[in-house]
Amino acid sequence: MGHAGDFDVIVSGAGPAGLAAAALCSEAGLRTAIVTGPLDPFEKRHDPRTIALMRPSVHLLEHLELFSDELRAVSNPLKRLRLVDDTGGLFSAPDVTFDAADAGWDAFGWNIPLEDLHPALAEKARVLGVEFIRASATGVSGDRRELAKLQLDNGSELAASLVIAADGRNSPVRETAGFIMLRHDYDQVAIGCFFSHSAPHDDMSTEYHKDQGPFTTVPMPERRSSLVWMVRPDRGREIMELPPEELARHIQLESHGDLGRISDTTEPRSFPMQTMNAVEYARDRIILVGEAAHAVPPIGAQGLNMSLRDAALAAELAGDALAFGEDIGGREIMERYDRIRRRDIFPRKAAIHLVNSALLTGYTPLQALRAGGIALAASLPWFRDIVMRQGLAPGEENVPRVMREHQSDAIKN
Ligand SMILES: Cc1cc2nc3c(=O)[nH]c(=O)nc-3n(C[C@H](O)[C@H](O)[C@H](O)COP(=O)(O)OP(=O)(O)OC[C@H]3O[C@@H](n4cnc5c(N)ncnc54)[C@H](O)[C@@H]3O)c2cc1C
Repeated sequence: MGHAGDFDVIVSGAGPAGLAAAALCSEAGLRTAIVTGPLDPFEKRHDPRTIALMRPSVHLLEHLELFSDELRAVSNPLKRLRLVDDTGGLFSAPDVTFDAADAGWDAFGWNIPLEDLHPALAEKARVLGVEFIRASATGVSGDRRELAKLQLDNGSELAASLVIAADGRNSPVRETAGFIMLRHDYDQVAIGCFFSHSAPHDDMSTEYHKDQGPFTTVPMPERRSSLVWMVRPDRGREIMELPPEELARHIQLESHGDLGRISDTTEPRSFPMQTMNAVEYARDRIILVGEAAHAVPPIGAQGLNMSLRDAALAAELAGDALAFGEDIGGREIMERYDRIRRRDIFPRKAAIHLVNSALLTGYTPLQALRAGGIALAASLPWFRDIVMRQGLAPGEENVPRVMREHQSDAIKN
């Protein structure tokens, strides 16, 4: 190992996005390695996040034969999504509920605990022949005309036709390759935990819009849900210090008792909120995927759904190039990836930023725009349908092939 051209593709970072990219590249016949970073991706570690994976992402899991009975048993279908304007401001909108049945679907997707999804992706990548390299990347070097060279913290260097940077928000590959990032820090944190409740959730996720950010409950099996509660940092510190029974009481109050009596909260974790976006998503044999490319606040469950589309497109373009005998890290591949991902990421990032800023700034025209959008969705079925379908994924032509609609066991059309 360590000499030029050992692999067709090297993925830096074994988070969920990197593992999905590596698994799909290997499946496409590309000689693929993944540099894991500091954490063991096979180890199950508690994570307070569940991931609401929408239909295209669930199709990807099914394509990889990953949506096993075991994973399904800890996951919950998402049949209804409810928006509640809880700002109590001048421009309050009526509640709006999106029902998957209205679109002729069983469910919008599934809510899957990240602590179960992550090791399952690692195991699938291993079975598909991905080589795991237990090290951290420190950066890339050279002119990258023929090959990209990745330096590791164990002193070795690996070369490949294509490097997929999936090494998170502080991606060393992205930074050393000179990609420009646009960042915006929100004065806000997101608190995540799981909890039990006495009333059924009816497979519904509810996003309550409050004046410090959304408070979202997402259904898990039995009478359990996960919480994403976005608040100002000082309020976040107070919440993090609450004893479990007090935290339960606050969740019950904030959700207006919609889920009945709250109990059995898991230890909460606080995530700083920012939005980040690369000016370019690919160039010179490097493709950015997942949070190395873009990070958004957890509103409307977009983050990993977008990242899996990054991963699947990167693998599709590289796999097609291999099949047609083209350079898998060539300029045309870079340009196509950048163009297609831009169409998906930009509008979503803008919509999330608009909703969050409208809640945070108290700027009246922005508040009116947010409330007006929700009110339109509540009153006009055709507008609700557009929001519902676009919220799940971009148009079919911008969705990688393995994520497109097809008849499946988990979700029937
Ligand atoms: C509270 C909360 C709720 C969320 N809910 C949802 C949801 O419902 N739906 C949704 O789609 N998204 C959701 N998200 C977003 C989602 O969690 C993230 O988008 C996703 O986990 C990011 O995955 P990633 O693989 O891009 O990055 P990471 O998970 O950050 O992976 C990066 C990997 O790179 C590794 N690494 C770091 N440095 C190096 C190095 N030098 N060399 C090699 N490897 C390195 C790290 O160890 C890590 O394994 C939520 C986020 C939060 C905070």
